[in-house]
Amino acid sequence: MTEVEVKQVLKSIVNSGNPRVRYKMLKKIGSGASGTVFTALDNETQEKVAIKTMNISQQPKPDLICREICVMKDNRHANLVNYLDSYLVDDTDLWVVMEYLEGGPLTDVITETIMRETQIAAILREIVKAIAFLHSKGIIHRDIKSDNVLLEMDGQVKVTDFGFCAQIMPQEKRETMVGTPYWMAPEVVSRKQYGPKVDIWSLGIMIIEMLEGEPPYINEHPLKALYLIASKGKPEIKNKDQHSPELNDFLDRCLEIDVDKRWSADDLLQHPFLKKCESLNSIVPLIKTVKKLLNK
Ligand code: ATP
Repeated sequence: MTEVEVKQVLKSIVNSGNPRVRYKMLKKIGSGASGTVFTALDNETQEKVAIKTMNISQQPKPDLICREICVMKDNRHANLVNYLDSYLVDDTDLWVVMEYLEGGPLTDVITETIMRETQIAAILREIVKAIAFLHSKGIIHRDIKSDNVLLEMDGQVKVTDFGFCAQIMPQEKRETMVGTPYWMAPEVVSRKQYGPKVDIWSLGIMIIEMLEGEPPYINEHPLKALYLIASKGKPEIKNKDQHSPELNDFLDRCLEIDVDKRWSADDLLQHPFLKKCESLNSIVPLIKTVKKLLNK
């Protein structure tokens, strides 16, 4: 789609009002490739929200923001960061208003703390529920990684960032190489046809992040990492003997090269490792400590 076409589509989706009347911008949280995220106060509900502002003409692929907003709008779930509203501002920017998750990204907890297996299981169960929901709607997330998992101060876990999503029909396959290199499944890297199970591979890589603090090959150049994923297949898991058999088995089911043998999100929800979880409350002290440590 051209920029003009994107704006036409967006106009038919977004709220035609002026967001500056309803929302008071508070603080910049951060910026990514597609835009900048701010906290804001909703004058109607007095609640804090997050607003992602995206300049349409600066998007390398403007149609991706249409997809992001449509997926968010049409798919609500307790384990997804939920869409609240959207606006086209000054005919140049798209503002997407969404729930604000004050606990920040899971990456911060992973890099600053060491979690017990039972805490890892608690977080994983929520993420697998989100992935199972998306897959049941024919949506492949394609960018599952700890940066795209946000935490609430009460321990709720939600998946975000639908900018790379693909909506497919059952049995339909994709070929485009999309995602973040270190988390990409071998079938994506080797440009084979792929389906929803690419998210399960990325989930496996995210578990390695939770155990080791970072994904495999992170110190390599992204192109070298792609080569290593394609050539080495399943990455080496450090200190395997220190993990429970259930956790090692869960990892094996996710990081299975043979896509037919790799478990689906629905299968994983029944895995014994997820039965070993603590309550989500148990991660609250970690979130609080990390926020203090990082001064966020
Ligand atoms: P991109 O994938 O577009 O390159 P990104 O994932 O790096 O971007 P954004 O999604 O633009 O970044 O988010 C920027 C920052 O805002 C990140 O630190 C992210 O954790 C934070 N953030 C995004 N959405 C929310 C939200 N709903 N609540 C709290 N923090 C958020």
